[in-house]
Amino acid sequence: MSATPLLSQVDSLTQELPIPPLLGATVAELTAWVQQQGQPAYRGKQLHEWIYDKGVRSLADISVFSKQWRAEVAEIPIGRSTLHYRSVAPDGAVKYLLRLTDGQIIESVGIPSFGRGGENSKSRLTVCVSTQVGCPMACDFCATGKGGYKRNLARHEIVDQVLTVQEDFQQRVSHVVFMGMGEPLLNIEHVLGAIKSLNQDVGIGQRSLTVSTVGIRDRIHQLAQHHLQVTLAVSLHAPNQTLREQLIPSAHSYPIEDLLAECREYVEITGRRVTFEYVLLAGVNDLPQHALELARHLRGFQSHVNLIPYNPIQEADYKRPNRDRIASFVKVLEQQKIAVSVRYSRGLEADAACGQLRTSKN
Ligand code: SAH
Repeated sequence: MSATPLLSQVDSLTQELPIPPLLGATVAELTAWVQQQGQPAYRGKQLHEWIYDKGVRSLADISVFSKQWRAEVAEIPIGRSTLHYRSVAPDGAVKYLLRLTDGQIIESVGIPSFGRGGENSKSRLTVCVSTQVGCPMACDFCATGKGGYKRNLARHEIVDQVLTVQEDFQQRVSHVVFMGMGEPLLNIEHVLGAIKSLNQDVGIGQRSLTVSTVGIRDRIHQLAQHHLQVTLAVSLHAPNQTLREQLIPSAHSYPIEDLLAECREYVEITGRRVTFEYVLLAGVNDLPQHALELARHLRGFQSHVNLIPYNPIQEADYKRPNRDRIASFVKVLEQQKIAVSVRYSRGLEADAACGQLRTSKN
């Protein structure tokens, strides 16, 4: 992993963040903190292990610390959420509603699966994390946007979601997708801090992290400057400006051509291909002519199209295209030599699939 330039740059970002809450801090930061508290440096490593490996929720429970110091620091927050609600979909995806310290509720999803080799391959555990409470983008087909926006999540609140799912499944998390509630690039500082912590402290490879964005002007450019190895997924959803504006309000001020130019620059700078997400809405953006138009934009572009058949939400009356329609869209893209896959979202029955996340239980 070519981590050096990235980590030093992210370091300069996160060092400014005050700790506590302690979750999301590196060994170095925790060591500096314990020393500040008058403790020997090795306590930093112990603290790191208890926070990330043992999942301790209160400093008072760290039995290797002296009783006296535990009593002194008992009230200092580690930054863990509490479980508000949990439901399991028939396909095994688990949806969690987590309560944050200010009472706000966010949603995360744990998605168990197998690798490409099917049941004989190593089992994976993907966590879909939220980056904001609610979302200000208001995309027409997305339940999260319908509920409005409250606030950005802090670094520890993002990392907490991964630890929570890991503890519940009693299995190491192998992948994290920043595809829950919220627009990650509107919270870029804390998302970068969380990426660094998930990578260094929780031990998840950068290539197993995916940041999904609807596209915010200059932010993809900004992300590229960190030379991360994470996957960038861009919610394109339409092959032209007119249609995109109908579906995504923010497209009005950020034309598709500008967005694609920024994505091209991202590929040049990072050497990583971009994934374009495309929600398939029957009769709206799923016709062969749309696939052709999309292919024209992406020819020669180091990218991959991920089609997401629409997951129904109460507040919108779009329809999911039938299998034939989806298959013909795929075929047109393949004929045009565009790499394409279809994401049949998991957790549909628990309202935990893409676009269905909200803070209520159903
Ligand atoms: N704000 C980020 C993350 C959103 S969720 C972004 O816009 O990329 C991840 C994906 O689910 C996005 O591509 C989003 O557009 C898509 N999505 C939203 N609502 C959906 C729905 N009802 N059905 C299918 N996909 C949906």
